[in-house]
Order: sequence, then C-alpha cells, then structure tokens
Amino acid sequence: MGPTVAFIGLGIMGGRMVKNVLKAGYAVRVQNRTMAKAEAVRALGATVAVTPRKAAVGADIVVTMVADPPALAAVLEGPEGVFAGCRPGTLVVDMSTVDPATSQAMAAKAKAAGLRYLEAPVTGGVGAAEQGTLTIMAGGSAEDFAAAKPLLETMGKKVLHIGPMGYGSVLKLCANLVGASIITSMNEALVLAVKSGLDLGVVTEVLTERSPLIGRTAPKVLSGDFSANFPLKHSHKDVQLALSTARAVGAPMFALGAVAQIQGAALAKGFGELDQTVTARVLEEIAGVQARKAPGA
Ligand code: NAP
Repeated sequence: MGPTVAFIGLGIMGGRMVKNVLKAGYAVRVQNRTMAKAEAVRALGATVAVTPRKAAVGADIVVTMVADPPALAAVLEGPEGVFAGCRPGTLVVDMSTVDPATSQAMAAKAKAAGLRYLEAPVTGGVGAAEQGTLTIMAGGSAEDFAAAKPLLETMGKKVLHIGPMGYGSVLKLCANLVGASIITSMNEALVLAVKSGLDLGVVTEVLTERSPLIGRTAPKVLSGDFSANFPLKHSHKDVQLALSTARAVGAPMFALGAVAQIQGAALAKGFGELDQTVTARVLEEIAGVQARKAPGA
C-alpha cells in the first residue's frame, strides 16, 4: 500500500479530484465541514473523519481544497485543525486558490510545527477535475514538490513547479484575472451583439476563436443556466486577491478594477452562489435585452 492521503474539502472541485486519488489506489481519509458531502466518497472506499485533525492523524500527505484564506485557516489551524493532527515531517499540500501572502504565512506555521508545506493551486475547472487533467502550479521546495508529484499526477496532466512558496499562487491569480476579464468582455460582447440584432450562434463561434474559455462558458449565458461550475463568489475572491497582491508589489491593474465592480454589482444582487458568468444578467438588465438562445436555434 502506498502513502495514506488525507483530503480535506469536498466541494465542487475537491469532491471530483479525490475520486482520481482513490482510483490511483491511495488509501484516502476525507473530511468536509458539511459532512453529507463525504458520504458519496465513502461509498468509493474512503474513510470519513469528523474533523481535519482526525483526518490528518497518521496520514503521510494531507491535501486541502477549500474556498479561500479564512477557510484554509479554519481547516489547518486550531485544536481540531490539520496541523494539530500531523506527525512531524508530514507534507501538507494546499490546492485551494489563495494569495501568496497566505501561502507564505501557512508555510511558516507548518514549519514551526515541524511539518512540510507545498502550495499547489489548479486551473481547468470541473471538467478537468473530473478527468484528472488539471494544470497544477506548485510553489515550495524542489524536495517537497518531488514528494507530492506522484499524487498530484493523479489529479493533473500538467504538474509544474513554478518556484518558491507564493509563486504558484501568483500564477494562479494571473490565470484567474485573465479568466474573469475574458468572461466580463464576453458578456459585454454578447449584450452588444444581441442589442444590435446579431445571431448569437455565429457570434459565439467567432468569439471562441479569441479564447477557448468563451467556448466553454458562453453556453451558460445562452442557455440561462447559471448553476455554478465556478461560483461568482470565488471568482470575485480571486479578483480581489489579485488586486491586493498587485497593490503589494506595485503592479498596475486598471482593467481588473472594472471587472471587480461589475462582479460586485452581481454579488449585491445576491448572485454569489451562481456561476461566474452570471455577471451577464447585470449587463442585460442595464441594456434591456437578454443574450439567450433557444435550444437548437
Ligand atoms: P466550493 O464548492 O464552494 O467548495 C469550497 C470548499 O471549502 C467546501 O468543501 C467547503 O465546505 C469548504 N469551506 C468553505 N469555508 C469553510 C470553512 N470556513 N471551514 C471549513 N471548510 C470550509 O468551491 P470549489 O469550486 O470546490 O473551489 C475550491 C477551491 O478551488 C477554491 O479556492 C476555488 O477558488 C478553487 N478553484 C475552483 C475552480 C472551479 O472551477 N470551481 C477551479 C479552479 C480552482 P462546505 O462543503 O461545508 O461548504
């Protein structure tokens, strides 16, 4: 039997990623704040723990895949957190999207507790999580990356060591700021096109030549099905983390400021749990049109 893996966080992404870890034959313990989400994974052979600490006891590698910096602190720290359960030398691999300052602070706390720490955020979305074809961008030491790589390869196709702690998070925030900007521009383009009377099928076909992300996300807008693949609240979290990280290093972010405002308007309307493409509804309301397409039209 290979190393024992504790996997904390079974949301949209983690719930899919852990299945590929199980398929690869690892012994897996899982934990999730909302216990009900662990049941589907128990049925696939995972052991369910009631707290992050209990999941971490005796594990060789601990993976976390949670919402944001406060969620990461909640699962790693405190008497029932991962750090409290790990034996010395355990490798903690955080795959959540956080900012470099959070990764660096958590790595320092792990080190003070006698543990090893790697950040390994991902891109690719739900489809890639399901298929084990994520792109994984690790930050940390070369030794810790080498130790985590076989496990990461069960979840990702492109598994990259970007550099020291924080570099993986910076690249992930760069990827998501580009993604959020493309989706905002796509929504503006769809509203302009429908307002001008164009056929949205041909519009989408041509826009997809600009970015494959448009091919994957435009159908959400055209169908009006805004159930979350990537919740707006998380996209906005990433935009805000990119803005604060840019401020910290003195990098300009003019266009992203506008993206943040449009997302903020959609959040104010209560759309946070819906897919990130739901910013279309704010633009549609202002323009007095809907960028919808009847199925098969
Ligand atoms: P999600 O479905 O909202 O899952 C979030 C996870 O974090 C759940 O397990 C949730 O537990 C847990 N959590 C939230 N707050 C917590 C707290 N205070 N204490 C303990 N656990 C907490 O989101 P997701 O889409 O899986 O995203 C997970 C991470 O991957 C995020 O950092 C996101 O930005 C990133 N990401 C997402 C995508 C995507 O396409 N969805 C792609 C790449 C990266 P509950 O189940 O109890 O709520």
